[in-house]
Amino acid sequence: MRPERIRVVPRASPLTARPFFLQGGMIVDGERSDTFYITTPIYYPDNRLHIGHTYTTVAADVLARFNRMCGRDTFYLTGTDEHGQKIQQAAAARGLSPQVFLDEMVEWIKTLWQQLGISYDHFIRTTDEDHTVVVQAIFQELYQSGDIYRSAYYGWYCTPCESFWLESKLVEGACPDCGRDVSWVEEDAYFLRLSKYADRLIAYIEAHPSFIQPEIRKNEMLSFLRQGLEDLCVSRRKEALQWGIPVPFNSDYVIYVWFDAVCNYITAIGYKDPERASMFARYWPAELHLIGKEILRFHCIIWPIILMALDLPLPKQVFGHGWLTIGGEKISKSRGNVVDPLVLAEKYGRDAIRYYLIREIPFGADGRYTEEALVDRINVDLANDLGNLLSRVTAMIDRYDDGKIPAPTGPPTHLEGVARAAREKAERALDRYLLSDALRGIWELVAAANKHIEDAAPWNLQGEARDRVLYDLAESLRILAVLLSPFMVDAPREIFRQLGLAEEADAVQWEDAEWGGMLPGTMIDRGEPLFPRLDPDVVLQANPDEIAEQGEERKGMDMIDFEHFSAMDLRTGTVVSAEAIEGADKLLKLLVDIGEDEPRQVVAGIAEAYSPQDLCGHPVIVVANLKPAKLFGVESQGMVLSAEGPEGLNLIAPVADVTPGSKVK
Ligand SMILES: [Zn+2]
Repeated sequence: MRPERIRVVPRASPLTARPFFLQGGMIVDGERSDTFYITTPIYYPDNRLHIGHTYTTVAADVLARFNRMCGRDTFYLTGTDEHGQKIQQAAAARGLSPQVFLDEMVEWIKTLWQQLGISYDHFIRTTDEDHTVVVQAIFQELYQSGDIYRSAYYGWYCTPCESFWLESKLVEGACPDCGRDVSWVEEDAYFLRLSKYADRLIAYIEAHPSFIQPEIRKNEMLSFLRQGLEDLCVSRRKEALQWGIPVPFNSDYVIYVWFDAVCNYITAIGYKDPERASMFARYWPAELHLIGKEILRFHCIIWPIILMALDLPLPKQVFGHGWLTIGGEKISKSRGNVVDPLVLAEKYGRDAIRYYLIREIPFGADGRYTEEALVDRINVDLANDLGNLLSRVTAMIDRYDDGKIPAPTGPPTHLEGVARAAREKAERALDRYLLSDALRGIWELVAAANKHIEDAAPWNLQGEARDRVLYDLAESLRILAVLLSPFMVDAPREIFRQLGLAEEADAVQWEDAEWGGMLPGTMIDRGEPLFPRLDPDVVLQANPDEIAEQGEERKGMDMIDFEHFSAMDLRTGTVVSAEAIEGADKLLKLLVDIGEDEPRQVVAGIAEAYSPQDLCGHPVIVVANLKPAKLFGVESQGMVLSAEGPEGLNLIAPVADVTPGSKVK
């Protein structure tokens, strides 16, 4: 039975008096449920995750943050799918037990999500005890009701995909999904009666047009279903697979990994757990399963049929987004184009990665990743458009109003209307999961505010006219910080801080984007550039892994003139203090005396080779005229020289004592 839990919640602000929402798979006017349960796929940790997984997880995070800001009771689930032959093999290849192997991978994944600011409410692992127990209970229940039965299985199996295939479905004898070899399986097995539910599922999909989205995926699934469904083998014999959940009533078998995996969406929120019954009633059915299109069949056929067999309502929507390609090619280990998202996050900062992924990829369609495009987005959208807006507005308020937000006494400007339109566009797009469109809407306000500075030329104005312009610009920035809060983690906070609204950042609500929230008289607090400009020639070369691989090429580097060399301001220095940077385990923040009035702050990737306490008083050589860059939110005003030795990284230092600040020549 479907629990009674949908309630109409009119939102407070006048802007949303007649909103446009997606609910229950249908677009309805003026109502939305008061809970929002969103899931990513649980990822298969036989390898490190790549930028494609990162995209899905960031997209879900944006929706989770947006819905929380709208006051909806939100639950964001992600996790790992830990059973199956590939895990067993990957662990064996490293000489580890599956559990030890998995614990290591999960720790890495959690670090990645933490670095990217992923605000999940729960991280499920399918090796969790409570998940295991409930999957067994589900299997038992369906066996007792006759929806799972025992029979003989003859057919093909693709181990990498963990998929069973009929002879007729193979493409040139290989797996139709991945093109790899399949192996013949002939064993007594347990089957799930997909065939019994096929017509009911077709009828459901037809009656609920937004259950599967985008449209093209829905049509794919319908045509697959209309070809007829065979019952699905949902067990493997223990000789073939040890690393799985045992069939509760027959210890010679383990449960098919996909059966186990899809159940995570209900085990995580307390299905069949008497102590969490109210939690399950509150969050099920899920609002959105966000998945990649390659696992559509498992989520749009097998999973709904398991739910029907359990007499549970189906999730409101399964959204199969496109693939992220690397410069047009599918991401794959064999192509060697796997981009390590943790390296990228360390290099560019999480907000830049989050912004780029969401802005660059039209939701639902395939997108191309290139590092060049990422750097371009950072320089144009973030440094130039958004960052400069903040710098210019705070500089003018500092200059003309002694750092105090002026009172808006002159006639109003058009920015109020632009801000309202930007918010409406973002809101409509977010409600329909069109994330890239939402950012595009928000950037209309960024562009209008920048243009308003040029058009109004506050430096030529005085009195009330100038006060109005500056107030409206500051208020536009405050609203931008609100609207960007689902998309970014640090930048909105920094905008609030520079506007003198540091406390507001902690409890920001979507309705705070209402015009007029900025109080005149607020003291601003100017700061560093929000997103420093990057020199593409420098950063695109600066990938540590690439540099190591390019060792051979480097020998053949171009010769330089003495002039090029002397353009570098190399100076001796002494480390005054060193400390770890939260969230960046390879980096240390150093203060280095290079003979200037104040020590230089330099971020160095030496944490694996040096502990902070060993560094005080350590002599170093500093590149003093390197353009400042922000790493993990910490500004680095130079770099220290180091070289790889047999035991790791060594700082380069003068052999004799020299005065800090001596020029290296
Ligand atoms: Zn395959």
